[in-house]
Amino acid sequence: MGEKNLGLASRVRPALRSFVPYDPAFSPCRVNLSANENTHEMPAEYVGAVRAALAATPLNRYPDPMANALRDALAERHGVGRGSVVVGNGGDEVLFNLLLAFGGPGRPLVTCPPDFSEYALFAQMTETPHVTVPRDAEDFSVDVDALVAAARGAALVIVTSPNNPTGNLLDRALVERLLDETDALVLVDEAYVEFAPPGSSVVDLVAARPRLVVLRTLSKAFGMAGVRAGYLVADPAVVDVLASVRQIYSVDVLAQAAALAAVTHRDALAPVVADVTSERERLSAGLAALPGVRVWPSAGNFVLVRVPGAHRVWERLRDEHSVLVRDFSSTPGLGDCLRISVGTRGENDVLLDALATLTREEA
Ligand SMILES: *Cc1c(COP(=O)(O)O)cnc(C)c1O
Repeated sequence: MGEKNLGLASRVRPALRSFVPYDPAFSPCRVNLSANENTHEMPAEYVGAVRAALAATPLNRYPDPMANALRDALAERHGVGRGSVVVGNGGDEVLFNLLLAFGGPGRPLVTCPPDFSEYALFAQMTETPHVTVPRDAEDFSVDVDALVAAARGAALVIVTSPNNPTGNLLDRALVERLLDETDALVLVDEAYVEFAPPGSSVVDLVAARPRLVVLRTLSKAFGMAGVRAGYLVADPAVVDVLASVRQIYSVDVLAQAAALAAVTHRDALAPVVADVTSERERLSAGLAALPGVRVWPSAGNFVLVRVPGAHRVWERLRDEHSVLVRDFSSTPGLGDCLRISVGTRGENDVLLDALATLTREEA
């Protein structure tokens, strides 16, 4: 038998045939502001605690499937019981599991693009019908009435606050309206909420609102994108369902140890988060001062900008200045837009200088 013609197209499940491997378009660069990572040097106390926890972790035993020590620390952080927390291999895994468990054929998901691209991806993978309520083309605000109307027929709603890549915060009144006026499960994705003003989270509502699910991650403010640890805070009955469908050992022993040390020592992170938010404002002002550049306000550790000839600017930033940002210019609603993660003061200055040169040359 020839091995060349496997006829793979027809062997792959129909719903999965159009997928291609995810390519974040990373390339080695002097300054990488493309993935909303925390690029700041972390406090010695925090780094020391994480290193010590990793060094003390045996590798020969299977992990605790539910990561209970980590769950307890997270539950304490949010003032809920252990049963209200489920941990995953990054927020991505818990997002996928949410769609796997509560989506599927005949159970629509509603989202408000432009938002996190994985929602659409996971909906398609799980054959979940996907209804979109696009954000305002000018300020990216959510059309509350349209969202509530769409959510009336939905199994699941995902709203993002602060929203990636537009930076908008969500009004908690909107979340309450969704819960009051629809029967949907409502996921509020708070991956960036540590960078938002105090009081921006809705996690305090979970105890009284069994259909509210809040997503958090250690990938952004905690500076642990490489560790792959994220979690949901939700009603214990929702957590039980998610605990039943998850990959049993998806959160490995090193991830559990690192995340537990990080969460335990989170107070040491406050100066880092404060510096990121003040750099965000300085970076935004610097960008807004460049000719032809529009900057939207952001509550995250990134800013969205519109630059004439964005794709070419993105390429030249990478190739001529060794600065990598994220190109959103071919995403619907984001023509000529780039997303720039907030780096250290030095990194932000490199980006500002490079962009000043390019906007002058491209004008
Ligand atoms: C980064 C991000 C996540 C989660 O990322 P993980 O690294 O998988 O934890 C979730 N939602 C949004 C909007 C994000 O930007």
